Amino acid sequence: MDNEKNNPPICSYEDSDYQTSFWDKGGREYEDRVEAVALKRLLPKGGRLLLELGAGAGRNTPRYTGYERIILLDYSRTQLEQAQQRLGRSKKYVYVAADVYRLPFINGLFDVATMIRVLHHMTDAPKALEQVRNVMQADGTFILEFANKLNLKSMLRYWLGRQTWSPFTPEQVEFASLNFDFHPKTVRNWLTSLGFRVEKTLTVSHFRMGILKQTLPTSLLVSLDSILQWTGALLQWTPSVFVKARGGSRESAPGDRENVLAFFKCPECGHAPLGNNRTYLLCPKCRNKWEIKDGIYDFREPGNG
Ligand SMILES: [Zn+2]
Repeated sequence: MDNEKNNPPICSYEDSDYQTSFWDKGGREYEDRVEAVALKRLLPKGGRLLLELGAGAGRNTPRYTGYERIILLDYSRTQLEQAQQRLGRSKKYVYVAADVYRLPFINGLFDVATMIRVLHHMTDAPKALEQVRNVMQADGTFILEFANKLNLKSMLRYWLGRQTWSPFTPEQVEFASLNFDFHPKTVRNWLTSLGFRVEKTLTVSHFRMGILKQTLPTSLLVSLDSILQWTGALLQWTPSVFVKARGGSRESAPGDRENVLAFFKCPECGHAPLGNNRTYLLCPKCRNKWEIKDGIYDFREPGNG
């Protein structure tokens, strides 16, 4: 039933120990802290409903203080289970396993969405960004981080003949399977064509080099990076770029933000609302069933029976 054209391949972190190996023990305190600085600068102080796309094990979630409710979305169920262990189960957090190319939410729902270290894995980035635009309310705030191909290291490597691809051309580069770097101008064009206005651009991780991270105190690098982040308004030569964009769907979702079940639509046929049978949500139109298990709404594959 699936065909590759409609469903781009997904980079799944299922059963991955990403949180432990990459963040907790991977020598990435510097990256984590400079991301926190950028997020704080771009994120509105508070709001009603925040969608965290690619939430993983919830590394950034505690930074979204001031939001009434946070929807953690990830393709990997095991990552969401780790997030649940970290954050607990409460009304404040809603855990959703789903595909960014087929978001299971009604149009115009969220006032804020964040997508950090996720576009990096998107074969069809414009398609994913369009989905995000649709589920955001008009004039919502979208915080997007992307990996930048036009970074100083890739420029040096290119000039020294150690890298075949050009960092200056607009197309994305897949430097490893399902790992993409993008040109900042291309990302801006995609956002603009979807009706977003880019309000702020910050460059992040200016000192992402092993030798610097090993020899200089992390706090010093974080302080310097914090200052240099503002230069992103003029030029973007860092491996990571954060953008604050405003925009969203022209439709507005019904005002009820209390009832979680009213948030969802069928990712297969787009129908809303879905019927609730406790262990699954049923689409009355296409009859697909979407599992609810251990506090996680699972929209990846329809259930049987
Ligand atoms: Zn359906």
